[in-house]
Amino acid sequence: MTAIKPPLTHHCDIAIIGGGIAGLWLLNRLVNAGYNALLFEQTALGSDQTVASQGMIHGGIKYTLGGALTGASEAIADMPDHWRACMAGVGDVDLRGAATLSDHFYLWSSNSALSRMSTFLASKATRGRVLKVGKQDRPALFQHPEFSGSLYRLVDMVLDVPSVVRALAENCPERIFKIDWSSASWQRLPDQSMALDFRHHDQRVRLAPRQIVLTAGQGNEALLGELGIRSPQMQRRPLQQVMIKHHHPHRFYGHCLGAETTPRLTISSHPCADGGQVWYLGGALAEKGAHQTADELIDCAKRELAELMPWLDLCDARWATLPVDRAEPRQRNFARPDKAFANRAEGCANIIVAWPTKLTLSPNLADEVMALLKKADLTPSDGAIPALDFLARPPLAPTPWQTAFGD
Ligand SMILES: Cc1cc2nc3c(=O)[nH]c(=O)nc-3n(C[C@H](O)[C@H](O)[C@H](O)COP(=O)(O)OP(=O)(O)OC[C@H]3O[C@@H](n4cnc5c(N)ncnc54)[C@H](O)[C@@H]3O)c2cc1C
Repeated sequence: MTAIKPPLTHHCDIAIIGGGIAGLWLLNRLVNAGYNALLFEQTALGSDQTVASQGMIHGGIKYTLGGALTGASEAIADMPDHWRACMAGVGDVDLRGAATLSDHFYLWSSNSALSRMSTFLASKATRGRVLKVGKQDRPALFQHPEFSGSLYRLVDMVLDVPSVVRALAENCPERIFKIDWSSASWQRLPDQSMALDFRHHDQRVRLAPRQIVLTAGQGNEALLGELGIRSPQMQRRPLQQVMIKHHHPHRFYGHCLGAETTPRLTISSHPCADGGQVWYLGGALAEKGAHQTADELIDCAKRELAELMPWLDLCDARWATLPVDRAEPRQRNFARPDKAFANRAEGCANIIVAWPTKLTLSPNLADEVMALLKKADLTPSDGAIPALDFLARPPLAPTPWQTAFGD
């Protein structure tokens, strides 16, 4: 009979599970603050929501279309400046390697929504961050004589999300590992804290972090189930985005305001490796179309564009859709959270569960986690990076348009 070998135990301050924007941003913040932090990703960095996002760093305008400026929209209002400082290399995370697609996006309305738009823009909520665009300054797409609505410019930016993921990963590659759950498992230690066990040949290697942060997006739900954690809980907001691959020369970033408080249509443009581009359509179209078939939704998108931009010729375009869920902390009445969420898990001494709820709010999520660490007096230790080099390194996730169109 062979005796079971005791595990080889390593320690670190913080293990992050999930390498989307939330986990990667948090890793950078923690490492910059001196923590011995590691990140574990099961598939590819930026999978699920992050590379599927439209990359808009909102200052909250979109969320105040009802006209009222709430406390929650105040939290988001600081975010564009925070990201800009990071892009310039003077923020709390170094994003100098990331690219900006646009330093503004537009808000436009069809004639039927014009009065609503004027009321909104007259409210204090816009606080000087919106400029009316004169006819001669309109982007090429809206120079057409058939356009008779109004167009405003929001001083918020759109980022090339794959480059953000790459920049964050390249800041600390030695701390990012691929986790294969068929050879890794959770262990509950006598003090009720959780550790991770890895099988490496006939040796068990244990990582006993002082703190674990779950930033696995929708993957948090399964992790909470496996760990027997009943609170916090998650909610999903299903979407189905539409992708249009074309050689139309105009890049465009904007929200079309309709009759409701959420934009009727949101368009962002993303470069492809073959020099073409993809228009990526979200907003109410993607929310209402979440449960349609791809063909039904593409028909709706074509009708919507024909109504809003009848001059646009997309006859040689290729179309595809992407069903994807937004993962959020569960709210009463399925409300939309507009602050990042981070809280301690019930029943596990060393687990924090976090969802940013928006790409924009990743810095806010890191602030929330740092505040929880401070509250627990968890200060950085001077430990070396644990010897986990037998684990693979995760690749960067492909974009949805690379997957759909192959270029
Ligand atoms: C279509 C769409 C458009 C959006 N557009 C915008 C926008 O323009 N602006 C904005 O601010 N926000 C936007 N958002 C919201 C934003 O994308 C998300 O809030 C944000 O990306 C969530 O990041 P995350 O890191 O929490 O989760 P995710 O990006 O989902 O990342 C989770 C990661 O964890 C990994 N993982 C899962 N389970 C495990 C496990 N068990 N072990 C290890 N790893 C695991 C996954 O593989 C993935 O890499 C959009 C969202 C969607 C869906």
